[in-house]
Formats: sequence, C-alpha cells, structure tokens
Amino acid sequence: MSQHPPTHLRAQLDELKAAHLYRHRRIRETPQQPCTIVDGRPLLSFCSNDYLGLANHPDVIAAFQRGAERWGVGSGAAHLVTGHSAAHHALEEALAAFTGRPRALLFSTGYMANLGIITALVGRGDTLCQDRLNHASLLDGAQLSRATLCRYPHANTAALDRLLADTKTRMIATDGVFSMDGDLAPLSALTQLAYQASAWLLVDDAHGLGVIGRGGRGSLDHFGLTPDATTILMGTLGKSFGTFGAFVAGSEELIETLIQRARSYIYTTATPPALVEATCVSLRLAERDDWRRERLQALIARFRQGASQLGLTLADSLTPIQPIFAGTAEQALRWSQTLEAAGILVSAIRPPTVPAGTARLRVTLSAAQTDADVDRLLNALSKLTTAI
Ligand SMILES: *Cc1c(COP(=O)(O)O)cnc(C)c1O
Repeated sequence: MSQHPPTHLRAQLDELKAAHLYRHRRIRETPQQPCTIVDGRPLLSFCSNDYLGLANHPDVIAAFQRGAERWGVGSGAAHLVTGHSAAHHALEEALAAFTGRPRALLFSTGYMANLGIITALVGRGDTLCQDRLNHASLLDGAQLSRATLCRYPHANTAALDRLLADTKTRMIATDGVFSMDGDLAPLSALTQLAYQASAWLLVDDAHGLGVIGRGGRGSLDHFGLTPDATTILMGTLGKSFGTFGAFVAGSEELIETLIQRARSYIYTTATPPALVEATCVSLRLAERDDWRRERLQALIARFRQGASQLGLTLADSLTPIQPIFAGTAEQALRWSQTLEAAGILVSAIRPPTVPAGTARLRVTLSAAQTDADVDRLLNALSKLTTAI
C-alpha cells in the first residue's frame, strides 16, 4: 500500500529536517540594504547580490515611479503580442551597446533566459558540455532540451578537451563567475576550445556584469576577450544592476532565432515597462560610476585580509562572493546561527545548491557597505573561530 500523498510529503520534509537541509524563508521588512530588519530583528546583511548598492538607489526609484506614470503597471501581453514597448526596445539597444554586441534580447528572469537559449539552440542528438558547478538554470535548460549533457570537473579545460575529442558538441556552457564560489571560469581557454569545436560558448555572467571588466562589462571583458559570433553572453538584471530580469547579447542571427524559438521568451508576459525604465537608469549608473567597483574591491581586500588573519579558509575569489567553507551542512548552519546571534546575517549554503561536503557560509560584499560593517563581520567571525 502506498502512503497517502500528504503523509508521504510529511515524511520527506522530516527527513530534510533531520539532515539539516530544510529551508525556510525569512521575512525582511526593509529595502535591500546592509542594515536590514529580518524576522523582526535588525541585522547587518552580507547576503544580497546587490553588489553595487543600486537596488535602493534614489535615481532608480525615481525612474521606476516616472515609468509607472508613463506606462502604467502591467505590460499586458507577451513581447510577440503587444507587450514589447518602446521602453523594452530602448533597454535592448542600451544593453547591446554596453556589451558591444550587435543585438540584445530581454528575458523576464535569468532562469528563463538560460532555459530559452539552451532549448532553442540544442536538442535531442546534440551534446552539451557544462562545468560541474554551473548554476541550476543551465543544468535545467540542458534537461529540458533533451540534449546529452556532459559535465566536466570544475574549470578543468583539459577534461573538457578530452570530452570534445569524443563527442560532437554543439554547446559549452559556463558561469562567468561561479555563483557559490566567486571564482572565474577559464574563459580564454573555453573560447578557444569552443572555436576549435565549432560549438557555441554560453557564458552566464550573472555575477560578473557590473562588478568586473571595464565599466562593469563582466568576465569576458575582464580577460580582454572581445565579442565574437559564437560566444553568447547572458546577464541578469536583478544582481549588480539592482532591478529585475535578464538579457542575452549576441549576433543578429542568434537574437532573431531566440525570438522565433525560445519558448520561455515567447510564452510569457513581458516585464513591466516601468521596471525596464528603472533598469535603463541603473545600467547607466553601473557603467559610469567606477567608484562603486573601486569601493567594492577595497571592501573585498579588507575582508580577505582580515579573514586570512583569522585563519579562515577562503576561496580563490576576487569577486564580492567570498565563501567560508564549513564542510557539513550542520556546521554551516551552526556558524550562520552564531553570526546571527551577533546581529550579522550570512546565509549557510548547503547541498543540493553545492556538492555534499562543501557546505559553506556565503559572504557577499556590496559597495553600499562601509569599512566598519566589514570590521563588524570580521569581529563576529573571530568569535566563531575561537569557538571551534
Ligand atoms: C541568479 C542567477 C541566475 C538566475 O537569474 P534570475 O534572474 O534570478 O532568474 C542564473 N544564473 C546565475 C549564475 C545566477 O546566479
């Protein structure tokens, strides 16, 4: 006899709890900013992806309000029906210019962009190679496409090279900056391998854009790689750019193909135009204000120096993502709770988001934080290490 469905779920939830893998949502009552109130308590936050501090910027808020007056709230339809406004079009042109590519196409979210790109370009009978630590949306896109997915060990271009020798690979996909580790993909080598294999290289630069490269042009620019016709750049707007949504930039043929074939583009309502107006402003601020990136780099250096003095194991990361490895999910949770008791919010990242045995605290820094904020974090971490 099989269990009654809700009883079955209850048993699974209880198992998650016993394994320290249960997740619950916390309720924030402030805008996204370093000093937050979460679950009714003031906490200093080191866990947003608002790396440049634009999510709550007055100019971005004002653009959103003006946008709502001009366009109303809802976009009312999908892009291919009547949802595509002049605001969307202008942002696509601005993103194409920013990334130095012929065209750009807006998607509602980064998750949907990755599903759309992959399913439009590869299918049954094709092979798609992905870094083992890629974001879930790239892996899910592969499943949905029905292509054969080959995962290579993290950043291991020699292993990828061997896979490419054996298979007819149509696409290589990688995070530009790995979302839970903060390190960069070996993009120069990947570009070369993709070129030799006549395959697409899809770079998901959710965490590189805005943060690294000239004017925040991201990880490809960081390595001095200029736009080419087989590299597809995917970027999100809800992280450094502080708003919401995502885009793909590439050749004319690529973008027109996505418009015809990417189901997560076609069968969904366009984002509200007011939001798009807000993004136009935040994109300008992100590109123009190098001081935010400089500030961020200074905070990253301060954090790394202090943390290594404490004897903490840091990752090889020059980005605002600075994991502190705990090992077990239980230890990561315990550390996170200890920090919280000291008024500091750092989330514990556990499997399946990261591989088993690599649970960690994921510290993220933001240009909106101060030196004193980082010192407070370091002080709280120092108590953690003496308690081990
Ligand atoms: C956040 C993220 C996404 C998803 O973007 P959303 O706009 O939040 O859906 C995709 N890829 C990576 C690497 C991300 O970090």
